[in-house]
Amino acid sequence: MNPTIRETDGIILDTREHGESDLILTIFCRDGGRSTAIAKGARKSLRRFVNKLELYSFLHVTLRQRNPNSMALLEEAELHAGFIRLRKDIQRYTAASVIREFTLLATREGEADERSYALLLWAFHHLDREMPHLQVVMLFLLRFHDYIGYRPELSSCFHCGNPADTRKVFGFSTVYGGLVCNSCVSTNNRSGIRLSGHTIMMLQAAQDMPLKDLYRLEIPEQQLYEALNILHRYGRHVLGRDIISWTMLRSTLQARTIDWDIQR
Ligand SMILES: [Zn+2]
Repeated sequence: MNPTIRETDGIILDTREHGESDLILTIFCRDGGRSTAIAKGARKSLRRFVNKLELYSFLHVTLRQRNPNSMALLEEAELHAGFIRLRKDIQRYTAASVIREFTLLATREGEADERSYALLLWAFHHLDREMPHLQVVMLFLLRFHDYIGYRPELSSCFHCGNPADTRKVFGFSTVYGGLVCNSCVSTNNRSGIRLSGHTIMMLQAAQDMPLKDLYRLEIPEQQLYEALNILHRYGRHVLGRDIISWTMLRSTLQARTIDWDIQR
């Protein structure tokens, strides 16, 4: 069988040392989704790989695969962007860690997913710039849940259909992945994490806005924490486990900010 050669763009989500001089990489590719590849001799500072195979590097890669069951070989890598702030700035590093960990837990090798690829690139691009890091994490998680089949239902109460608006307070049920209104909480014994009407409206807008316009969204701090609170808990439910990096992300917050884990 002839080897297949694949040229695509991708973002490095994991690197592991292998043997004396090799690196095993997990790359999230535009074509082919999450892909594992081995870079032979990469740790012997071969010129073709120098300073390129860092965590979060955005690359153009050439992958050679002998057969569908063998690990791909990284033949060439050209650096599009290093996203250096994601490795140097502690807040941006922890935000990128949450995004990376969530992506690795929620995706599988070889499942092509161009929307998730574009979202990942969007998130790392804005973390490398001036966008507040918690805002990037929140918007990433909101959209990513949708792309992996767990879109939060934010238009009305999942139990009675009572529509959301800015004057009402709803709860968010992680079990149902949707809103539950106050009267259903009291009469039907449903439970939910508190979510104000303004936060719901902001999330509704952010769910369907074109990706390129998302950075324009101005999100008040209170809404940001409410949204992070439900997305953190919803993610824990969807994945069936917690994201270890959340603890690290929380430790970077100023003392004055609200600890979203305290809100019930
Ligand atoms: Zn209801």
